[in-house]
Amino acid sequence: MTLAQAENYRILREADLRDYLAGRPKLTAVLGGVPGDWSITEVGDGNINLVFIVKGARGGVAVKQALPYVRLVGESWPLPLSRAHYEYLALTRQAQLAPGLVPAVLHHNDALALTVMELLEPHIIMRKGLIAGTQYSRFVDDITTFMAQTLFFTSDLALTAAEKKEGIAAFAGNHALCKITEDLIFTDPYRIAEQNRWTAPWLDATAASFREDFDLHVAISRLKLKFMASPEALIHGDLHTGSIMVTESETKVIDPEFAFYGPVGFDVGAVIANLLMAYLASSGHERSPGDRAAFEAWVLETIEGVWNEFARKFLGLWRSDAKGDGYPVSLFAGEAGAARLDTERQAHMARLFQDTVGFAAAKTIRRILGLAHNLDFEAIADEKLRAICEARSLRLARRMMVEASSFATIDAVIKAAREVRGWQPDFAR
Ligand code: ADP
Ligand code: MG
Repeated sequence: MTLAQAENYRILREADLRDYLAGRPKLTAVLGGVPGDWSITEVGDGNINLVFIVKGARGGVAVKQALPYVRLVGESWPLPLSRAHYEYLALTRQAQLAPGLVPAVLHHNDALALTVMELLEPHIIMRKGLIAGTQYSRFVDDITTFMAQTLFFTSDLALTAAEKKEGIAAFAGNHALCKITEDLIFTDPYRIAEQNRWTAPWLDATAASFREDFDLHVAISRLKLKFMASPEALIHGDLHTGSIMVTESETKVIDPEFAFYGPVGFDVGAVIANLLMAYLASSGHERSPGDRAAFEAWVLETIEGVWNEFARKFLGLWRSDAKGDGYPVSLFAGEAGAARLDTERQAHMARLFQDTVGFAAAKTIRRILGLAHNLDFEAIADEKLRAICEARSLRLARRMMVEASSFATIDAVIKAAREVRGWQPDFAR
């Protein structure tokens, strides 16, 4: 944060926010009516920032402001305001690359760490829809377009070396947010850490075994290094189902404040992990045995579609739009060269799949043994039942992390998920 920023920053409470918006014609035009009549409510279901929904006679906006600390924890956990700058930068870049799949930015103020966005309505957080058992038929197509477009066009396959390095530089300052991921996902769940929690006493033994499991510690450390040392593309960095808002006909990706140049598999793995958790949490939300079978079948098909469609679209872009400095076409002349390059593209996707499987496992374990849990499991009131669903997820995730190479295809992941769905942990027998 620059000195000018520090001097101009203040937290906008309701009255102040109303005046701020009223002073901006572009925003008053969207809201309509008189400022005194606008309704302003804090949403409060994010963990980190303040989000206000403002509604006027004509329309509405969402206003997101970063605080100099983590909202959920308070001033004892400081976090730089600059994250709002990176979120704004990512949102505008994603809007160019994946039009219609992120909320439009209407206004941004770096000094106030504040962004005014298109109000997504009647969209809901996808995770909540999944808990309710809702199927989203557009999701596979939309999320794979979002990922293929944003990840391909910010990679060395599409950019010149200079453009790519300018991109890395533009996001390099977002390291405090990366550090959160490095600690909370890649380190703490595997050691004693004050902020860890799990569904006790049921998962005590598994948590202890994960802290002593060097095969797992090697695997998570390899993934951590990959996360830190692989600026492959501009990744969203937090692409779970709580960062996706949906209706049955629309998908919007929000909240890219963790964006930086990192490994592609981290985003794809995040989507797959959160769908696997939705699948394995589903039995905890049954009202009668088997009443979510159709939903569960849809979740598994969706997981398959997420990988297959992502790979198909990414490969398609590589074949049609490879203007970058990676894999120079001049090294693959003639028919034999073209064929060899295409084989290599497939091999690249296979490596990306391995990363995806590993990162999906990491994203699962942190949600069950680490600080931040997810509602898919938390909403299961019966703690023993919740622990059974979580234990199955941990068992699958451990296999995916330690034996990633035994999962050659997404079908192998789905088969393992189905098997673990029928497995009973010792404490349930
Ligand atoms: P945080 O960074 O604190 O996690 P999010 O960006 O996830 O904040 O936003 C918190 C909540 O605010 C979301 O879960 C969603 O309910 C709501 N929200 C965020 N952006 C919008 C938007 N553009 N339109 C409607 N609601 C939104
Ligand atoms: Mg969020």
